Amino acid sequence: MTELETLIGELVAEQGPMPLDRYMALCLGHPRFGYYMSRDPFGERGDFTTAPEISQMFGELVGVWAMAVWREMGSPSPFALVELGPGRGTLMSDLLRAAKAMPEFLNAAQINLVETSPVLRGMQEELIGSERAVWHEALTTLPESPSIIIANEFFDALPVKQFEHRGGKWFERCVGFEEEKLTIGHAPAAMPERFDAFAYDGAIVEDSPARDSVAEEIASMARAYKTAALIIDYGHETRAPGDTLQAMRAHKFVPVLHEPGNCDLTAHVDFESLASALRRGGVSVSPVTTQRSFLINMGLEERAERLSATASEEQKADIAAAVKRLAGPGDMGNLFKAICAVSPGLTMPFPFAAS
Ligand code: SAH
Repeated sequence: MTELETLIGELVAEQGPMPLDRYMALCLGHPRFGYYMSRDPFGERGDFTTAPEISQMFGELVGVWAMAVWREMGSPSPFALVELGPGRGTLMSDLLRAAKAMPEFLNAAQINLVETSPVLRGMQEELIGSERAVWHEALTTLPESPSIIIANEFFDALPVKQFEHRGGKWFERCVGFEEEKLTIGHAPAAMPERFDAFAYDGAIVEDSPARDSVAEEIASMARAYKTAALIIDYGHETRAPGDTLQAMRAHKFVPVLHEPGNCDLTAHVDFESLASALRRGGVSVSPVTTQRSFLINMGLEERAERLSATASEEQKADIAAAVKRLAGPGDMGNLFKAICAVSPGLTMPFPFAAS
């Protein structure tokens, strides 16, 4: 049993069944035993790999996007270049290297990173420079200034709740503790009627107050100052029932109750709900596009060709493999989606269409 498992068992015994979002928040963020608090989860020796870790091209193309958006915003100086959940800091460091092509953008950019993990903060400091950026625990302390916000694989790590339709009623799915083991069941009392569209027996529907609240914080910044946010993550374009909570260990799926605190826990991002939360906050939101379409429009193939021109045969093969992994329809290309949210009155930036 992990220490966190024992702790969760005690909490359930004291307080009753634990909603899944609380379970997920403890597994990922418990100050001592949380998954992100104590380790570097990325890469071959870790549990999963993200787009910026696959290839430098990802961060560079996000950089090209950010520079164009900054121009479109009227080149505000200074402005906050914000990343939510920067991981090892790879995306930001590739973005900043690409931005050397536009020194006025670099001079105006004040780098602000929202990160709760001390281990990952340390890695970000090493890669980006501790004097070059300001770190935040949450969005609430970000500077009051025009902002460009980037969030890659951040929202999938924010906790979700699940509700199950049984015998004509909705019940919240919860973690219980029986015979010295964690179990998944549901709360004894039914919820008020909701999710009418999916009310059939056995349906499971996810909802994320934590994601909605980050969306509201982005919207509140965007109402006050010129702001553009780019959100990339895996998930679905339209709201649908289904249990997407998943745990990963060493690049393999494991049960969500397996070794709490030692496995990555994520859930697919419901882009329809995320976009609605942003729109409720008064910002303009683009239609959902795929990572494939975003990267190809930003020049992935041209960038790969340029890099290949001076590369060894082995490097060329790596570059081609990275293009396929990032944008291939059977790889990340279609599963990963992108949306953009901008302040009311700002033009929706390329390659996002106005909705
Ligand atoms: N964007 C990076 C890392 C994705 S993993 C990449 O693409 O490689 C998720 C990141 O979000 C990690 O840096 C994790 O520590 C951070 N994170 C998770 N929950 C968070 C929270 N509630 N607040 C701030 N950061 C969080």
